[in-house]
Amino acid sequence: MKRTARLWISWADRFGQPPKTIEQLTRDKQRVKEILVRAGCEHLFNEERGLELEVEVDSEQFGILIQELQRDPHLVPPGGLYIWQSHSRPALESAELLIWGPTNQMIEDDYYDLRVDGYQGGPRSSNSRCLSCGTRLEQTRDLIVNKRSMRGKDTSLTYGYQVIVSDQMARLWQEHGLTGIELRPVQHYRKAYQGEPALYQLVVTNTLPPMATPPTEFEGLRHCDVCGRTSGYLKHTHLWGKIEYREDTEAYYPRRVVETSKDFNLTAEYFGELRVAHPMIIVTQRVYRLLRKHKIKHWAAVPVHLAE
Ligand SMILES: [Zn+2]
Repeated sequence: MKRTARLWISWADRFGQPPKTIEQLTRDKQRVKEILVRAGCEHLFNEERGLELEVEVDSEQFGILIQELQRDPHLVPPGGLYIWQSHSRPALESAELLIWGPTNQMIEDDYYDLRVDGYQGGPRSSNSRCLSCGTRLEQTRDLIVNKRSMRGKDTSLTYGYQVIVSDQMARLWQEHGLTGIELRPVQHYRKAYQGEPALYQLVVTNTLPPMATPPTEFEGLRHCDVCGRTSGYLKHTHLWGKIEYREDTEAYYPRRVVETSKDFNLTAEYFGELRVAHPMIIVTQRVYRLLRKHKIKHWAAVPVHLAE
């Protein structure tokens, strides 16, 4: 796994804090220059009061930067260090299970949810909802969306995190008998546009047991006492010495999970704010290879770890 850091270093004033004195500004600016010199990237210095670097976490340069910044953590603004992970093809091709999802969110929500009474759980809503926290409980009819916003993509999320797939993708899955899914037709919001390419909503029917915790960790958990739903995030805020950074924690399952998994599965856990809480989708290696082989685009996968 390759880890890449996006690091923002700035000597500007902080939002919500008193303005720096001239002396503080001069000192911080000088210190930023000095740090860049030590890390061998002084050419990045500019007069804009801040700069952004993209650097591999395993590199010597990142080691120097993060060590120097421990002495002046205030030079990294809140949210100024973000680390993302990328996985090699061999790692992706050897994972038995992978977190899967579309890489775009082009489809607006259901027409009646968006424009009438859907988010309040009214009679035209696509889903029944908890009247206290607003979370979706059960889908009560086909989704009605503007199909044209798919714009030829193979797959997309709606704003409410429902997965929509093209006719081509749906047929591929059916031909290969992929398990754990139903494909629900998606309706177009205006009859005038009949003849648009057909779209389907991916309805995953198999739910996995809970993730292995630890090593998987969560944060920001919210619970609704009325409907009983809990939703949160994979832990993504950490401390590197005195500097806070963001990086998604990896997902672990007990190895025996493969005995009950289908080609498509939902996590038992819900993610996001309660109003848009949704499980993640976990697929088998078979799905990963099938999509690659048929050059299906607009999705991404991340390996899941299986713990003994
Ligand atoms: Zn609720």
